[in-house]
Amino acid sequence: MKLGVAESMDCAHFLPGHPKCGTIHGHTYKIELIIEGKNNTGMIMDFSDLRQCLRQALDPYDHKSLNDFIDYPSVENICEMLKSRLEEHLHFPFTLRVWEGEGKWAEI
Ligand SMILES: [Zn+2]
Repeated sequence: MKLGVAESMDCAHFLPGHPKCGTIHGHTYKIELIIEGKNNTGMIMDFSDLRQCLRQALDPYDHKSLNDFIDYPSVENICEMLKSRLEEHLHFPFTLRVWEGEGKWAEI
């Protein structure tokens, strides 16, 4: 069974050398986290614990410039960075989808 939560973070970024995205600008990134586990006890994981786990991964970047953390903060690279952070705390197989504004996302 799958269980999911969504949170968001507001970040600045620019993509060095990119014709359109090379100038600093911002996005509200929506992040969906979906875990997979067995429903043995009526609950795979408490929603508030899952949400806290996601917030813990996002908070270091919220209202910051992503270029301070990664050289090329494309949505693909942001997705991989957040996955590594989540793996430190989350012990379920999971899917992570990162939305860069409306209609654009990467998933891992
Ligand atoms: Zn952008």
